[in-house]
Amino acid sequence: MTQSAASGLTFKSPLLFEQGHAGRSGASLPEAGVPAADPAALFGDLYRAGGTPLPELSEPEVFRHYVRLSQQNFSVDTGMYPLGSCTMKYNPKVNEWAARLPGFARIHPWAPESSVQGALALMWHLERALAEICGMDGVSLHPAAGAQGEMAGLMMIHAYHRAQGRSPKKVLIPDTAHGTNPASTALNGLTPVAFPVGDSGVVDPEVFAASVDDDVAALMLTNPNTVGLFERHLPKLAAMVHDKGGLVFGDGANLNALMGRARPGDLGIDVMQFNLHKTFTTPHGGGGPGAGPVGYKALLAPYAPAGDVVKSEDGRFSFATPGPGSIGRLRAFHANFGMLVRAYAYIRELGAEGLKLSTDLAVLNANYLRVCLGETWHETFEGPCMHEVVIDDHHLHDQHVSTLDVAKRLMDYGFHPPTIYFPLVVHGAMLVEPTESESKQTLDEFVEVMATISREAMEDPEQVRSAPHVTRLGRLDETRAARKPVLRWTPPQPASDPEG
Ligand SMILES: *Cc1c(COP(=O)(O)O)cnc(C)c1O
Repeated sequence: MTQSAASGLTFKSPLLFEQGHAGRSGASLPEAGVPAADPAALFGDLYRAGGTPLPELSEPEVFRHYVRLSQQNFSVDTGMYPLGSCTMKYNPKVNEWAARLPGFARIHPWAPESSVQGALALMWHLERALAEICGMDGVSLHPAAGAQGEMAGLMMIHAYHRAQGRSPKKVLIPDTAHGTNPASTALNGLTPVAFPVGDSGVVDPEVFAASVDDDVAALMLTNPNTVGLFERHLPKLAAMVHDKGGLVFGDGANLNALMGRARPGDLGIDVMQFNLHKTFTTPHGGGGPGAGPVGYKALLAPYAPAGDVVKSEDGRFSFATPGPGSIGRLRAFHANFGMLVRAYAYIRELGAEGLKLSTDLAVLNANYLRVCLGETWHETFEGPCMHEVVIDDHHLHDQHVSTLDVAKRLMDYGFHPPTIYFPLVVHGAMLVEPTESESKQTLDEFVEVMATISREAMEDPEQVRSAPHVTRLGRLDETRAARKPVLRWTPPQPASDPEG
């Protein structure tokens, strides 16, 4: 039995470090054919005098430890993971094959350009594919994640205004926005200014007009927005901002609801980030890895980050020399390259028609859930949604059952909970995003489980309030688990020797 320091809970399965026996090993090496050297003579002070108090284990024990750990985690490979906004779609395994090809996986970031023409060609083609999908004039693959793509886009906007001899400060952001939007704004020395979207869930041009003035550097808008609704007034909002000399940044995290059907560039967006790990399939979660390319219209090209790939007349690929206006580098080397391979494989596998179908299925699945869940659950916004739907815990208030309880209970039934309490403007929100990956049977099962939980909340609320019941750990102190995770095993200290 071991104690988890983070949770204070006791659990049964022994940790690797408490197992093992002295002398047990997973390796069988032949006798050395040369005389043993004296390590102390070779390494001097660096040579450790005693052994390390690490467990000694056989190969199956080590293997079982890691497989057991993997089973304690939920993944999209084991079940539906409807985490709204994060887009946990199935990641085709052929992408993994492509990313692991030695010619891609084993190249060194300092390898001479002449020896990595294939990798550069892939980057060049991916830049063009993304630009085409989004109606942008250029794409830089450089940023490391969606948030860094936002950062890059706003840096470019900032540089653009400075080049015009202007210094507008405000970035208008609707109150439904993802927290990274105001954070990227503030990191750029600009001022995030929130404005309300109201009951309809989308930006109302008349309400918005009150916020637009000469001090607006940019409007930052997610479309479809974080409540899963299409911002249908976007062209009008963009025109209002452009009239005052401002630009429009599109948060592209929800591009999986548009690709193949509409292009942000055609709707008035000047610069946007892509979340390759969401829209174009890469295993993600737990903080990474990510890839957040930034797409831009021609007027922002002089400020694009360093690291664009160019193709010469004779068909050779190389990294472009950044111009004097470039915002430069945001990170070492050239993006998380394996993710670029996965995104490219996904785009080429699906093709134009397949990307469109993926969008259609994501939207169809979300609307199927909206209608079916709506029979039991309170639908926050009326009418059709895009790729995700918001429901809330409205009808459970009298039972003192909350969204958190529902999320925990879902785990007992084998579903990952949806995103909860986001967007912040919806009280008790559950943001459900099924993605295009799920079958009708799985969606029906989810609906049935949600109806069961609602019934339990009415008949036996404690059953829901005390969930989860089948997981290895129950309810953790989530703040401490996130802020002060105990990730390191510390060997028990040997009893101190009074003589020494
Ligand atoms: C995920 C997300 C982001 C941030 O992207 P990361 O890749 O996680 O940095 C920004 N905006 C929205 C709406 C998102 O869903």
